[in-house]
Amino acid sequence: MSFSVLLVSQDDELINDLKADFQARYPDITVVKPCESGAELAEVAGCWHPSQSLLSDYPNIKCLHSLAAGAGNLGKELLGAGLPVCRIVDEQQKVGMFEYILWGVLNTHRKFDVAKTNQENKHWYRYSQRSSSSVTIGVLGLGALGSYVAQRLADFGYTVSGWSKSQKQLNDVECFCGSEGFDAVISQSEIVVNLLPLSVETKGILNANVFNKMPENGYLINCGRGAHLVNDDFYDALKSGQLRGALLDVFDEEPMPESHPMWTTEGVIVTPHVASDAMISAIVDQVAENAARFHNNEALKNTVDPKRGY
Ligand code: NAP
Repeated sequence: MSFSVLLVSQDDELINDLKADFQARYPDITVVKPCESGAELAEVAGCWHPSQSLLSDYPNIKCLHSLAAGAGNLGKELLGAGLPVCRIVDEQQKVGMFEYILWGVLNTHRKFDVAKTNQENKHWYRYSQRSSSSVTIGVLGLGALGSYVAQRLADFGYTVSGWSKSQKQLNDVECFCGSEGFDAVISQSEIVVNLLPLSVETKGILNANVFNKMPENGYLINCGRGAHLVNDDFYDALKSGQLRGALLDVFDEEPMPESHPMWTTEGVIVTPHVASDAMISAIVDQVAENAARFHNNEALKNTVDPKRGY
């Protein structure tokens, strides 16, 4: 094996960690950062929010590999360049996503948010409890992450439905697709979990129409992308009590500036896009395997349809 992989991101820590792991475990693959000697020879680029001039800067690149579960970070221009595009699918990332979403579900189901506020006010109030089976959860997106999360929430005893583009079959999860299916999932889900990819079709999908159709006092968990959420509709739904709160991991502006109203919106828990990262070792294994496959003219794994956007 003798070929190079170019690693591109403005996140130096990520690139240095990936490079170190590559060098330790795949010494036969030459891993380079932009401007390092040999970068111009690489045919495969591992990318996280790369510059849109990547292909003019490095015209030898013939395959783009997202360093994340989604490929949207590559940007429209690179996705439309006609090159094969791959992404990361990591088992441990699915577990991490489930843990994060379970935290949000328990926060509202077991009223830990109420307990926290009461503690701040030194107010002793024994609120009522509910069984998990009485709690309805709708998962938007039943791909690698969504199907795992929906299944595990159902295993936990919650009443779970899910929505995807094509019809799915999951044990103990009522699966819907299409626009009628969307309304069915939303109208029966007091907790809506978003695990859709960002595309022309899904941008702004979490809007007033959705919040008004959800049962009153609903809860939103957004782990998809910030642009899925229409912020003004969301603030209105919180104000009116249509939503009782939300756990949000992704935002229209990242990093979120200090002046952003979301930081201080009552009922909202903000986390800085950390719901679940792929493990460094999994990213390196998958980029290395796909780079070898590309080099040997073999079929690539975890490919993305650039036109579909996921
Ligand atoms: P995936 O495997 O590509 O699955 C996407 C799912 O969404 C599929 O079930 C797909 O339906 C469905 N879908 C896409 N467009 C749709 C539409 N217009 N209508 C209905 N359903 C639609 O993606 P994944 O690996 O599960 O990841 C999902 C997203 O999670 C990523 O794109 C990313 O935005 C987000 N994410 C966030 C974090 C974080 O830390 N916050 C980490 C990783 C990923 P079909 O199966 O029928 O095609």
